[in-house]
Amino acid sequence: MLSNFDWLRLCRNGSELIATLNIMNSGPGLFQGPQEIGPPLCGVDGPCTRCWIYPRAPESSGQHCVACEEIVSRARRLGRLSRQCMVVWSFVNFIPDPVRLNSGTESNQIRCSFLPDDNHFLVIIRGYSLRDWLRELLLYHGSELKGLMILFPTTGTGFSYSMGDILCRAIHNDSRFPMDRLRIRFFPRPLELNAPHMREDRGILTFDSTEFLGLLEMATIFRAQLLPHEQDMVKKAVGLKDHQEKGFYWGRLMGMLSLEARDMLAAWKFKQWPENRVRLLYELVAHVPFTP
Ligand SMILES: [Zn+2]
Repeated sequence: MLSNFDWLRLCRNGSELIATLNIMNSGPGLFQGPQEIGPPLCGVDGPCTRCWIYPRAPESSGQHCVACEEIVSRARRLGRLSRQCMVVWSFVNFIPDPVRLNSGTESNQIRCSFLPDDNHFLVIIRGYSLRDWLRELLLYHGSELKGLMILFPTTGTGFSYSMGDILCRAIHNDSRFPMDRLRIRFFPRPLELNAPHMREDRGILTFDSTEFLGLLEMATIFRAQLLPHEQDMVKKAVGLKDHQEKGFYWGRLMGMLSLEARDMLAAWKFKQWPENRVRLLYELVAHVPFTP
């Protein structure tokens, strides 16, 4: 019979992952208890077309078993929410209290979690509450918490890899570091989990937890000080290769920005930032709240 983790592996997209975790978190029920196995694949009806194990439920669409039908129907209502969520898979020395108790303010409470043992946890966090959630976690446990947290977004329908595949990729890589401090690996796109070295070689994959929190704080300030079209102009200007041209456009751009934005960019020496650091900041801006 399928274990809870097997049900997670079956998820085709982020909405199904959230729906499956929601069902798990609401107590034992659909996934527990003895269940008969469905007819063989070569039979007239065959088993459920999602899990390929349990019999199709007559009251469902005619394709799914009871559990899969419930997951699929809940997932239909979660598409929009799923696109704003980040998945965190962690291998740590203990389960942190904010995860175990799901404490904190309503805005940074985790939506759903999976705690397979005393050292692993999976949580789904709304993209914009990532900074607050991480800040609370580090405030709560400081340097006691050690291990690795892997951050990646959910996948959508029609994506070449299923959410379950991406989750397995994250798990495959979770024990590659010594447990001497808390590290964070950040993947802004799910496919990047297939080739982590691409980001690692550029120095934009693995961070110390406090360093990563600092980067999220910077991204929040950046988003607050610059309007979206100003962010685009800054990105264009800082990416120019010709020094003379860059100096000219940068000077002109500074004249158009607010005093606060100019001060921020000057204090950060943003004009001299290497390409990868700029790229990372813009990737993080998509996951922080707008705080005017
Ligand atoms: Zn099924």
